[in-house]
Amino acid sequence: MNNENKIYLFDTTLRDGQQTTGVSFSVSDKMTIAKGLDDLGVDYIEGGWPGANPVDNDFFSRDLSFTTSKFTAFGMTRRPGRSADNDPGLNALVNSNANTICLVGKSSSYQVKNALGISEDENLSMLTDSFKYLNNKNKEAIYDAEHFFDGFKNNKEYAVKCLKVALNSGVRWIVLCDTNGGTLPNEISDIINEVKKTIPSEKLGIHAHNDTENGVANALTAINVGVRHVQGTINGLGERCGNTNLVSLIPSLVLKTNFYTNINKENLKSLTKISNTLSGIINEPKAKNSPYVGENAFSHKGGLHASAVAKDPSTYEHIDPELVGNSRNVIISDQAGKANLISQLNKLSIKIDNEQINQILELIKKKEAEGFSYDTALASFELLVRRSIGQINDYFNLNKFRVTDERRWNAKGKLVIDSEATVHLEVKNEEKMTVGIGNGPVNAIDSALRQALINFYPTLNDLKLTDYKVMILSSDKGTGAITRVHIESTDDNKKHWTTVGVSSNIIDASYNAIFDSITYKLFNDLNK
Ligand SMILES: [Zn+2]
Repeated sequence: MNNENKIYLFDTTLRDGQQTTGVSFSVSDKMTIAKGLDDLGVDYIEGGWPGANPVDNDFFSRDLSFTTSKFTAFGMTRRPGRSADNDPGLNALVNSNANTICLVGKSSSYQVKNALGISEDENLSMLTDSFKYLNNKNKEAIYDAEHFFDGFKNNKEYAVKCLKVALNSGVRWIVLCDTNGGTLPNEISDIINEVKKTIPSEKLGIHAHNDTENGVANALTAINVGVRHVQGTINGLGERCGNTNLVSLIPSLVLKTNFYTNINKENLKSLTKISNTLSGIINEPKAKNSPYVGENAFSHKGGLHASAVAKDPSTYEHIDPELVGNSRNVIISDQAGKANLISQLNKLSIKIDNEQINQILELIKKKEAEGFSYDTALASFELLVRRSIGQINDYFNLNKFRVTDERRWNAKGKLVIDSEATVHLEVKNEEKMTVGIGNGPVNAIDSALRQALINFYPTLNDLKLTDYKVMILSSDKGTGAITRVHIESTDDNKKHWTTVGVSSNIIDASYNAIFDSITYKLFNDLNK
């Protein structure tokens, strides 16, 4: 492969993606996303801003040994009026466990004057000092040239001067940022062609925002005129209208151009899964019409299209959906779904015959129509399979539960909201009735269940519910919403598992997810 055609992918989901309204990642979310990105094979994973907040500090203190990706810290150039080695922000970056550091710095004279209120020369010194400092500390340096395209339109000489100064201070990549996202593809190519007269294009990168829905188009345009580094996020996450969507850009590069990335065709098949995992983490359904990975990306609704696709899929599909781990949505018991199921069964070392596989496929389809989703709830998926082939018997049966919520003022005049749950169970031929108190109804049910079960199953002692997510699914039938609950659990073996429950009632959906969580724990502990 020609080295000149290699495109370096820089993922900024954990930093720029986190700027999305309503999104905040926990450390364990960040670990899950980073692991997926490393498996996929992006060149750089920007982990966040060490020194800026507790979650990022915690994340940067973890043992993050990636196989393919370079772990990258983000920050900004030294503050005005300070030396680089005296700048606490820069030192937090230099002392982090990331060997690559991406610094955002101004490149627009307008922003230098109005946002920073400093002289143009001081900004140039800030760039020089900061990047030289990183170089002295043996860090690979990346310059995110903030507001570059707007700055170029406003004062071309100064914008290019900033790039030049950074280049001379030893940066590996100069990333041209369309920070406000208002630049159109033709402007991107015109401006980059001008920049190339001063900066070698193999040093250039692009960071585009999606405010004119050209985030991906602008990245592709920049690549076509010589840029070799692209920043973006999974599912196009990011503030306002988001960033370049890597989930759309990557398959276009890999499958449709002569450029190549670290991501080979085998890894490309995990794209749909990564996209779904992120949607699960931020608890927001992905748009069904998402290119490549959306539920409808390869759906064919009836009539002519469907019958043509049945004869030859290329009649109405631009690529084979399996290439990105997606599947076609028209033919019953389709091959992709079956292949996915078989590979998941292999992972679990479950061996079943063809007829059972078809039955399970039908069962999954039925459950998904009811609102279940197993993309992230792998423990519930495993239980579904094992139950349907008779490998799991219920460890207990719930006869009934009753929950009451109370909002009151206590004797000290303090507002108290608590819940009480009563459960009636049958465990090992005994009837049990217990009452649990909690700060909410789910907590109270969980507490009552544990009291009823702990003497029969002491291994439940270390079970912890660590995360709880609720999604309201609109009902096509207009008979009221369906609720889907995901629960993440862990135990002292540091095992994590996720289960799902669905019901028209949120408490019942939660109970179903807890029931699966307990069953999964017992199955694993009692079958060793
Ligand atoms: Zn950005």
